[in-house]
Amino acid sequence: MSHAPQAPAGLGPAVDLTVIVPVYNEEPNLRALYARLEPTLAAISARYEILFVDDGSRDRSMEIVRALGAENPRVKYVVLSRNFGHQVALSAGLDHARGSAVAIIDADLQDPPELLAEMHAKLRGGFQVVYAQRRSRKDKSLVKKVAYKVFYRLLARLSQIEIPLDTGDFRIMDRKVVDALRAMPEQHKFLRGQVAWVGFDHAAVEYDRDARHAGAPGYTWRKLFLLAVDGITSFSDVPLRLATFAGLIVSFVAFLLIVYALVSYFYNARTPQGWTSLMVSVLFLGGIQLLSIGIIGEYIGRLASDARRRPLYFVKDTNSTPSA
Ligand code: UDP
Ligand code: MG
Repeated sequence: MSHAPQAPAGLGPAVDLTVIVPVYNEEPNLRALYARLEPTLAAISARYEILFVDDGSRDRSMEIVRALGAENPRVKYVVLSRNFGHQVALSAGLDHARGSAVAIIDADLQDPPELLAEMHAKLRGGFQVVYAQRRSRKDKSLVKKVAYKVFYRLLARLSQIEIPLDTGDFRIMDRKVVDALRAMPEQHKFLRGQVAWVGFDHAAVEYDRDARHAGAPGYTWRKLFLLAVDGITSFSDVPLRLATFAGLIVSFVAFLLIVYALVSYFYNARTPQGWTSLMVSVLFLGGIQLLSIGIIGEYIGRLASDARRRPLYFVKDTNSTPSA
């Protein structure tokens, strides 16, 4: 497969590698990041591009980015109108990236920029996605570490696609994958799941995740919880199906209890007045209600998957030209 860099028409000279850096209040980290990232990229290709996406920072992050841009024309930036969240910032980055390969890295130096050399070499060795998988992490409190572990394993159980464990958004992708991701129109982005969903050939590189260089994490517990909900609802219908399972089980148990109530009505003289009719109607209604909710859930599940409006497939390679 050829990897000749090709710039989209009208967008200036070709770029071999774009590195997207989402930025939310990263003022104390940006110079340090640039000092490590720039030489790494220059060694990979002279035609690199560093694309900062400012996600509504309220500190002086953009002043630093603009200064870097003035020093180095390979530093580009996109400033969002407010804080939209990490995943949306990444989408904006993918939309503006021009590289024939595109990498994503955090601004806080938790992802070592030097690893990009190895990741890029692997990508060019014949993969379309090379993601960095954490061997260890120094960044989180024990509670957060456990929460992450549980979440990744739960998601792996619930979804049909193989989302690699302990992997964030630190990764490098071929242009084909970037175009596939951009063709996914869903509003609730969960990039790690989407990259797994689009397919293509994936490989991992292991690393030890560092602690934050400086500043406070922009991911609060609330944002993490919302991300987890997006991940599960975008890639699993299991929670929707729960009502059907529960409805079937409850109806079955209710049926047994109805039989029991009727039997005791006819054969047990000590059944209190009204107990049987009450039991029968409550159990019957309960079972029917849960089953109906389950049926509605099944339809909503289908609506949800249609509403995502995802493309049906992506082509990795072909020697046939598509009919116009
Ligand atoms: N970030 C962002 N928007 C947000 C929160 C975070 O663009 O609303 C960026 C942040 O600047 C950093 C990356 O996303 O480059 C990861 O954020 P953070 O370090 O807070 O996440 P954690 O490392 O705790 O998962
Ligand atoms: Mg971080």
